[in-house]
Amino acid sequence: MTDFKRYLVTAALPYANGPLHIGHLAGCYIPSDIYVRWLRAQKKDVKFVGGSDEHGVPITIRAMKEGVSPQQVVDKYHAIIKDSLTRIGISFDIYSRTSNKVHHETASAFFKKMYDDGLFEEKETEQYYDEKTKTFLADRYITGTCPVCSNSNAYGDQCERCGSVLSPEQLINPRSTLSDAIPIKKKTKHWYFPLQNYEPFLNKWILEDHKEWKNNVYGQCKSWLDKGLQSRAMTRDSNWGIKVPVTGAEGKVLYVWFDAPIGYISATKELTEKWADYWRKEDTKLVHFIGKDNIVFHCIIFPAMLKAHGDFVLPDNVPANEFLNIEGDKVSTSRNWAVWVDEYLNDFPGCEDVLRYVLCANAPETKDNDFTWKDFQDRNNSELASIFGNFVNRTFVLMHKLCGGKVPKLHEDMLQQIDLTIMESIGHAASNVSRFINEYKFRDALFEIIDLSRKGNKYMQEMEPWIKAKKLPGDPDAQKLIDNCLHICLQLTANLAILINPFLPTTAQKMLQMMKVVDKMLDWENAGKLKLLSVGYSLREPQILFRKIEDAEIAAQIDKLKAGLVKANAPNQKQEAGTASPDPTPQISIPMATGIKPQVQYDDFAKLDLKVGTITAAEKVEKADKLLKLEVDLGFEKRTIVSGIALHFQASAIIGRQVVIVANLAPRKMRGIESNGMILMAEDGDGKLKFVNPDEATANGSSVN
Ligand SMILES: [Zn+2]
Repeated sequence: MTDFKRYLVTAALPYANGPLHIGHLAGCYIPSDIYVRWLRAQKKDVKFVGGSDEHGVPITIRAMKEGVSPQQVVDKYHAIIKDSLTRIGISFDIYSRTSNKVHHETASAFFKKMYDDGLFEEKETEQYYDEKTKTFLADRYITGTCPVCSNSNAYGDQCERCGSVLSPEQLINPRSTLSDAIPIKKKTKHWYFPLQNYEPFLNKWILEDHKEWKNNVYGQCKSWLDKGLQSRAMTRDSNWGIKVPVTGAEGKVLYVWFDAPIGYISATKELTEKWADYWRKEDTKLVHFIGKDNIVFHCIIFPAMLKAHGDFVLPDNVPANEFLNIEGDKVSTSRNWAVWVDEYLNDFPGCEDVLRYVLCANAPETKDNDFTWKDFQDRNNSELASIFGNFVNRTFVLMHKLCGGKVPKLHEDMLQQIDLTIMESIGHAASNVSRFINEYKFRDALFEIIDLSRKGNKYMQEMEPWIKAKKLPGDPDAQKLIDNCLHICLQLTANLAILINPFLPTTAQKMLQMMKVVDKMLDWENAGKLKLLSVGYSLREPQILFRKIEDAEIAAQIDKLKAGLVKANAPNQKQEAGTASPDPTPQISIPMATGIKPQVQYDDFAKLDLKVGTITAAEKVEKADKLLKLEVDLGFEKRTIVSGIALHFQASAIIGRQVVIVANLAPRKMRGIESNGMILMAEDGDGKLKFVNPDEATANGSSVN
């Protein structure tokens, strides 16, 4: 492994056409911030850069709809986003924006160098054009049906449902987002980046040299590379963006995904005169934190650009997270199904760390995950407050009560096995936390810390210093045992402060205050040490680290979420108000005799995530006649599924078959094997089972709707 001299950490540039929601935080800002704070605690040379992405079509559309200029749109949301990031404690060294001068110059020069080197293909093609608004339709100006998953609202650049990268020509039944008109074709000239020329480089660089990348990232890259890459236009017909710096390009700007990642370079330039060290020296470790919808841009297109340009280092890792759903449903800003960070901060003042905790503990590191308000409350009340906070509080209260408010002495001659065991646990926890963060496994690291505080509670419960105190003053050994217990608990508390600091920085500061020590104690080299607090040092009174979150607060948030949904749907309901039925979904009960289950609402059906997969391995489960253990390839990951079909199929006969699975079914253990999903089967009147599958070979991971 390379010995890196410096670190450059980036977090995805949020798009400045709306406020930040907690999915953004869970996707890349919390993990990147944890990673950077951990590096800083080790005194590493690290720069953490980010900024708002302020170009591209959604911004011009929003401006048009609101009747303001694109600049007004980005000014408004850049300020809101920046404020939310600051308040939740995302510790960027610089948070810039792509509409500023340095960025325009940097991106323009980047394009010019590639142009001068002859790396673009200049092509005149026929493109979709909206005659009503006189606009060429690219990216989000055009919608239609996704050819991969049949989502009827896929955009010209990407389907947000299945994540496929698209071009407008691939859309079925395209229409203009601006006027809803059916577009015509018209000639226009653009500069294309021939990504296929970089396939050999990408194949080696990712598939051979970066096998350590997360499975979801590596898998997505592999699937794109296996399909083969194509030339992609790097310019657009628009007035909002960075002008294409070549002659004959009037009315054209750089494609937003060409300019946005260069924003990391521009931001570093703004931050430090030594920016080139971070971007050009091979001993820099560049890490991009992103959400899964950005994988293709950060792992394929941007590295190909960097390689083509030639002056820059490539990312060492791109630890992308999957999506965070809310209360079982995908985040949708248009339906207002989201938890907005600025609103959270106002509704839960002083609880910044609670959100950081929940979003890390529940982070979608390997698969989509769900945020629920109930889980938020549970994690606060039964993990942060009852385990971590409780341990620290008990330690301080008892130290004041039984040891005069000072760090008691450690009587080595009186140490018992139980003391030695807990002291060892501190060292183990510290090295495990380091290892997990280094591997981008932030959830595991956090669980390790909570587990250490759980062990602290258990240790104190077994030592019972308050019972020993009843033997005082007659029994001098009792005081020694009390001293040992609280000495160890205090050193453990100091370690908890160091370990939790990257995750919950405000909590760590409160703990420092209680221990009356300075920031220096949080240096990572102190993690695992046992003499952090000196004997005889007097400490402050405890303060409550985490308050209980009440049922009423949670109910209010759920009501708010649902009210937002009603508000977002209001225009549609208004249209329907003219019809006779006051209830748009009349309740019809279907007689059970037809064999059909009671009616459900669409929303209930939509909670199921059905995906196409291929069985890649099958074997009988020992001592279970009916069960087969299957491995199903979903494209983005492989699943183990236990299925009760062994009486109907030979294991060897079904390998290679495509199937449809319920991908978001809660895991279930069968005969000691965890089954992650369920295979859909048709059962006829005779009880014979048949697979349900697409009528022709379909990409693994395709959605079934
Ligand atoms: Zn799709």
